[in-house]
Amino acid sequence: MADAPKKRTTDIGPPHYEQFLPPAIKKNYGQWKYHEILRAGVMKHVAENGDAVYTVRAGGSRLMSIDKIRMICDLADKYADGHLRFTSRHNIEFMFTDEKKIDTLIADLKKIGHPVGGTGPSITSIVHTQGWVHCHSAATDASGIVKSVMDAVIGHFENMDLPAKCRIALACCLNMCGAVHCSDIAILGIHRRPPKINHDLLHKTCEIPNVVSACPTAAIKPTTVNGKPSVTVDEERCMFCANCYTVCPSMTLNNPLNDGVSIWIGGKVSNARHEPMFSKLAIPYIENNPPRWPEVVEAVVNIIDVWKNNARKYERIGEWIERIGWPNFFKLSGIEFGKMHIDDFKHAGLTFKRSAQLTY
Ligand code: SF4
Ligand code: SF4
Repeated sequence: MADAPKKRTTDIGPPHYEQFLPPAIKKNYGQWKYHEILRAGVMKHVAENGDAVYTVRAGGSRLMSIDKIRMICDLADKYADGHLRFTSRHNIEFMFTDEKKIDTLIADLKKIGHPVGGTGPSITSIVHTQGWVHCHSAATDASGIVKSVMDAVIGHFENMDLPAKCRIALACCLNMCGAVHCSDIAILGIHRRPPKINHDLLHKTCEIPNVVSACPTAAIKPTTVNGKPSVTVDEERCMFCANCYTVCPSMTLNNPLNDGVSIWIGGKVSNARHEPMFSKLAIPYIENNPPRWPEVVEAVVNIIDVWKNNARKYERIGEWIERIGWPNFFKLSGIEFGKMHIDDFKHAGLTFKRSAQLTY
């Protein structure tokens, strides 16, 4: 008889998540009967056998110091037997079975500066990309804008006072490694000029075939300049996406006078009531104005206020605008409609399949 195959051990990939589950979650895995939101940021999940798990959700941030992470781990040790999880929107969740711990945990979280909320019809933590902190192709900052916007809308995080969920996301260039295209409100950094090519450096720093193939509009062609291999850009075709700059640092796109922020609204990922929707352009350009970006903050607050005051219960921003029509949205919000709002791109997103409901 052949030997039983040896169990393969490898350090490739993450460890299996099951070993990190809190005991009550592991015990009732796949056996949950229902859940309810007890108040903003506090949830109760009940299993078929009657076990209950309480979750407290606190606002987090994408960039955290080691000291802050240690403080959060201390709270996890104190309240949740050393377990905690970060949600995909940077919230921090503590799960435990003793209902009496809820209020003291919330008080301890407040002491280290973390509000509790982000559940149900509220704004939850804003997801974002790297911004000026880290990525070289950023057209705007990420954490700075997110902090400024969140300071202005924190009341909607701590209180479930909106018609429906509101997901805000920020990507600092239109490569959108943060995938903001399906957000209720998307803050998107944009460049507005084609790349500047450093012909003396390009052949030393970049793989020309890679650069050519990086361009989604085929605007880049190989050429020779002063006897050295380089590239040319057909500026008519360039959509300032920074893909080429991502692979080639000798094609600088950053431009302090022309980089800034656009705002897109009405997207959603959920299949509830309406199929998923792409965000659409609301404000084509706002200048970068660090450190507090007052114009971006004002624009986001205005969109939320207009939606909150006019939408029906359960209507996400996109569903509300579809019901009243975009002309009415522009009228109600006071946002100016201009030529930049007209989508004349032949591969326009309207033709993309968005629903997860497939028919054959
Ligand atoms: Fe930001 Fe674009 Fe860099 Fe992603 S690729 S971090 S969206 S600049
Ligand atoms: Fe092509 Fe984008 Fe570079 Fe313009 S910015 S040349 S569209 S890759």
